[in-house]
Amino acid sequence: MNLSPIFTAVRTFNNDDTIVALATGGGIAAIAVIRLSGKESFTVAQKIFFPAKGKKKPIADYKTHTLHFGSIKENDRLIDEVLLSVMKGPHSFTGEDTIEISCHGSTYVQQKILELCLANGARLADPGEFTMRAFLNGKMDLTQAEAVADLIASDSSGAHSLAMKQMRGGFSEEIKKLRNELIHFASLIELELDFAEEDVEFANRGHLRETIDNILRVIEKLVRSFEFGNVIRKGIPVVIAGRPNAGKSTLLNALLNENRAIVSETEGTTRDTIEEEITLEGVKFRFIDTAGLRETHDAIEKIGVSKTFEKMNESPVILYIFDVIGTTGNQLYAELEKLKSNVTPGVRIIPVGNKIDAVSIYNVEQAYSMIKNPIFISARDKTNIDQLRNLLLSLYSHGKIEANNSIVTSARHVDALKHTAECLQRVYNGLLGNLTNDFIAADLRHAMNYLGEITGEISTDDLLENIFSKFCIGK
Ligand code: GDP
Repeated sequence: MNLSPIFTAVRTFNNDDTIVALATGGGIAAIAVIRLSGKESFTVAQKIFFPAKGKKKPIADYKTHTLHFGSIKENDRLIDEVLLSVMKGPHSFTGEDTIEISCHGSTYVQQKILELCLANGARLADPGEFTMRAFLNGKMDLTQAEAVADLIASDSSGAHSLAMKQMRGGFSEEIKKLRNELIHFASLIELELDFAEEDVEFANRGHLRETIDNILRVIEKLVRSFEFGNVIRKGIPVVIAGRPNAGKSTLLNALLNENRAIVSETEGTTRDTIEEEITLEGVKFRFIDTAGLRETHDAIEKIGVSKTFEKMNESPVILYIFDVIGTTGNQLYAELEKLKSNVTPGVRIIPVGNKIDAVSIYNVEQAYSMIKNPIFISARDKTNIDQLRNLLLSLYSHGKIEANNSIVTSARHVDALKHTAECLQRVYNGLLGNLTNDFIAADLRHAMNYLGEITGEISTDDLLENIFSKFCIGK
């Protein structure tokens, strides 16, 4: 058995090509950046760039990490005045010779410079190709490359912290550590296989089981962290549900502090679901206002109602709004029971009594004494909205990102971790049941392969294609 990491990564694209793409957002802007990477980057730039001062000299003779002012010309026609950055491989993001042209952000100029690069020997980069080259050239492992995409997509401080952490390699280190423990373990089993006829035992079985058990525990913790990592990245969905006219849209507006949802006195105006994102202390929440739960004959509203249940099952938290003027304690109790039986177990339902501005709070608390932990608010007057916000925040406090060592944010990683755990469970059972070493060795090898897939120590074309095709062009 080959115990050393197996590097099988082969690119389907041609890595000898020099690639070019717009690195900035496209459209009109003050500045745009066009990035070239590959063996011919300097040659391509040489043909179109003319320094403002001094004689034209080979770009390859420029010092690395220097900036040059000059112009881009098509034959003798001036296209733009630009800044040219020169980064020599391997000291660049991709590990290859890289040129970045900072030009004016006119769509015409951007397009023209791209065309000139293409005409002079570069080809348009495929999605994620710069980052993929960085990975293939050993500048980063696969989890770090994936974190680049997450970092670019991050729009809240929580999502940003997670991406940064992963980009700096903390998660990879943890996976590599587990993998090394398995490699050590497997080498002992291998040794026993080599001396099979002599019936020797190099590895204490009890000790081996303990190692596997510890690794399984770490994996379980990582798998569990995914739920949290995922919601931080995508935002925590919070469904706002309740009967028509309970005040759901008004509450959404109060939480958002603006008037985006439609509020109306006619029952059932919130026809479809309205989704709004809001970042509270670095954690992104996605508030989803739904149509009422009441049965209705209105066709459009029916869709809305069924959407309510769909959304509820995706959401870890439901704010169930009830109108304290028109709902008795018994009614509410029955509605909450019905709701509980319709949603996934474990979903947190928070009963929120609305319109307390219209009644005495003492009477309200009496009326709903049989309900567990309700919150009473006035959505219209914004009374106790802070209390509700704080409750939501306490469910997903930002502190967890710091406290928890590693947080898994990718479904791909979770999948590989679950497969690893399955293999290791078989190893564990095999050790208990005195299974022969060759079976144990095979399961160990599979477990190591799955872990290797996370960091990219083991990768296939399909896997890379799948990951990098989700990036956009220029990344
Ligand atoms: P939805 O159907 O659940 O989305 O309910 P809306 O937000 O459209 O509100 C229904 C009605 O209740 C509107 O007339 C609101 O002005 C009113 N309403 C909402 N919140 C409050 C509140 O806190 N106090 C009072 N008195 N009325 C409210």
